Amino acid sequence: MKKHFLIAVIITAVMLILFGCAAGKPDISAQTSHVENTSETETLPPPSSTAAGSESSSETTSSVPAITSENATETTESDDFYKDSVLYKPENIDRYINYKMKYPDYTYEEVITFVNIGIDMDHYSQITSITDYDNLNVLVNKYRRLPAEYKPELVKLSSFLCYSDGSGNVKEHYLREEAASAFEAMHAEAAKSNLSIVAYGTYRSYETQKTIWEYAVNSGRTIEDVDSKNARAGHSEHQTGLAIDAMINTYDVTQTGEFKWYSANAYKFGFIIRYPEGKEAITGYSYEPWHLRFVGVDIATDMHDNYSSLTYDEYYVRVIEPAL
Ligand SMILES: [Zn+2]
Repeated sequence: MKKHFLIAVIITAVMLILFGCAAGKPDISAQTSHVENTSETETLPPPSSTAAGSESSSETTSSVPAITSENATETTESDDFYKDSVLYKPENIDRYINYKMKYPDYTYEEVITFVNIGIDMDHYSQITSITDYDNLNVLVNKYRRLPAEYKPELVKLSSFLCYSDGSGNVKEHYLREEAASAFEAMHAEAAKSNLSIVAYGTYRSYETQKTIWEYAVNSGRTIEDVDSKNARAGHSEHQTGLAIDAMINTYDVTQTGEFKWYSANAYKFGFIIRYPEGKEAITGYSYEPWHLRFVGVDIATDMHDNYSSLTYDEYYVRVIEPAL
């Protein structure tokens, strides 16, 4: 380990001399800003970072020279830092090295986490087909796709759990049984505080998701804008039957007592707010205060108690995947 430490010090010193240390720790939320400016990224969503984030991004990235695979192979001494990690995936080694050189201030754990998620790649450019689609902890995102034919076993929600438009029209909603019963329990607990948490959106099939995405693109919005808000077919958590848009899918929801209540208590019933504010560059989606994902009480509680700053994408590759 002593040898590794010495090598690390030397590499760090060389990198500081070569690249300077003017670039502060880059905000992950700024990365897509940079990537978007490259030529291969027509399908990327727009950066969801703030203007300040974008500015720091261009400062950061302009001071970092392009990394080629030749450069990467010259630095194989640092392989050991990755190989010592339980998160290490041999097939990703070149990507770890390149990403670390691009963002030297990230810790090795952050580099491995982000690369294992796929954040160093354009959205939808390198896709893993999901095979554990029936697991309650399944990770679905812009790098992982559900089979088109996948449809979970679903149960119908009781109408008192469903959004009503005020004129008595109540849409039918379906979820997997585990998510449905947890949602009903959460509804009952919130009702004790005179709150009514209802479902506005639930299960959507592959075909429905495809229609929604194509309709949104054909309505004149840019693909980048659509992708920041709508999943492409096969990439929506709603296809798992484990996701619920609670109350209404606009930011008005944050003004409700129900939102404040489920923000504080949803984990006790196994739900997380899947697309948090400020994490757009990791999740690939704008903040969605209404989108709840059922992951089970154990995971939701562990995230709440021990990993509250992580998105589910990060938690999955750091905690769930190594134990698979
Ligand atoms: Zn949703």
